[in-house]
Amino acid sequence: MADDRLYEILGVSRNASDNEIKKQYRKLAKEFHPDKNPEAGDKFKEISYAYEVLSDSKQRATYDKFGLKGLQEGAHDGFSGDDLFSQFFGGGFFSGFGGGGGSGMRRRQRGEDTIHPLKVTLENMYNGKTAKLQLSKNVICATCQGKGSKSGQCEKCSGCNGCGLKVTYRQIAPGMVQQTQARCSECQGKGEIIKEKDRCPTCNGVKVNNETKILEVHVDKGMKENQKIYFRGEGDQQPDVEPGDVVIILQQKPHEVFQRNGDDLHMKHTISLTEALCGFTFLVRHLDGRDIVVKHPPGEVIKPGDVKAVIGEGMPIYKNPFDRGNLYISFNIQFPENNFTSEENLKLIETLLPLRTPFVMPQGEQVEEVDLQDFDPNDRSSHSGRGEAYASDDEDHFHGGPGLQCANQ
Ligand SMILES: [Zn+2]
Ligand SMILES: [Zn+2]
Repeated sequence: MADDRLYEILGVSRNASDNEIKKQYRKLAKEFHPDKNPEAGDKFKEISYAYEVLSDSKQRATYDKFGLKGLQEGAHDGFSGDDLFSQFFGGGFFSGFGGGGGSGMRRRQRGEDTIHPLKVTLENMYNGKTAKLQLSKNVICATCQGKGSKSGQCEKCSGCNGCGLKVTYRQIAPGMVQQTQARCSECQGKGEIIKEKDRCPTCNGVKVNNETKILEVHVDKGMKENQKIYFRGEGDQQPDVEPGDVVIILQQKPHEVFQRNGDDLHMKHTISLTEALCGFTFLVRHLDGRDIVVKHPPGEVIKPGDVKAVIGEGMPIYKNPFDRGNLYISFNIQFPENNFTSEENLKLIETLLPLRTPFVMPQGEQVEEVDLQDFDPNDRSSHSGRGEAYASDDEDHFHGGPGLQCANQ
């Protein structure tokens, strides 16, 4: 369908030369400029808009072929890049624009994707899960097939002449006019108006209805945090627009025992000093409910902070769930409390432990004997006097002895 609207606005023929268009624009712009003719504001906006399009050979060619809607498509596809048009039409708020000349369109505009976060547990990602997700989406009205009216007709909005935009001009300095385009308030940017009597009773002229839909989301074994699951074309529907996708983004709830790192699992475990020296056995309840018996032989000493691996007990690998990462256990050693046994027993223990390095007391007046006090680097009240230095910004430059290190170093 040929669309001559912009030519009509300028009062030129479809095959007018660039020069004719420019001349005619200058003439009309003078006549209808808001400074001279404040009543004709809308007329001036139309003239300017028509000139913007027709004075640009690329835009004019698109308009000649595909009408206003074609211009919008072009802008949407980014093919008219940095031109003025795309600044106003790039945002996608212009859906439903033009109403008429869709016949020459090459491809449909695509709607936006709908993004939903889905909270899952680490167990879900380990074992796999089918989650039911309820979401509301716009669906083309079945009563009116997305026309919005009983008759299937709609009228071009007179407020914006069907283009959905209103241009406003504001004088910011003598001889300088700022132009802004905004969505037409009479038709909410749709470019068309459906008479109240003719409105579809189901959708009330909106063309779409909001429906609740349940999606079955398959969380596969080994899927990861922030992994996306796509439901192609399940996004909101609107007339003449290809619906976008529903995109589910997985978000893992924190787990009490395991931290995940890629395909590996990490956990912390505290053992007693006795276990660290003499071996131990403990249970780990795995994510699939299995109890894993972790055994460590006597004599293989575990030191504080040691990390041991259980090969193949990590997460299943996505798309290859029979392979699994590793489970890493980092150990904390619980030492006995003060005075946990008698001095005699301690002497006995000492006979069993590796020999200590002999101490030789130096002679002379330079020698001073001191006691060790309890010190909690996190407790400010236990800092006596110079303790303030630890809290100051230059703590990095303070080199204390090994017992004087600040907690956050
Ligand atoms: Zn309807
Ligand atoms: Zn309008």
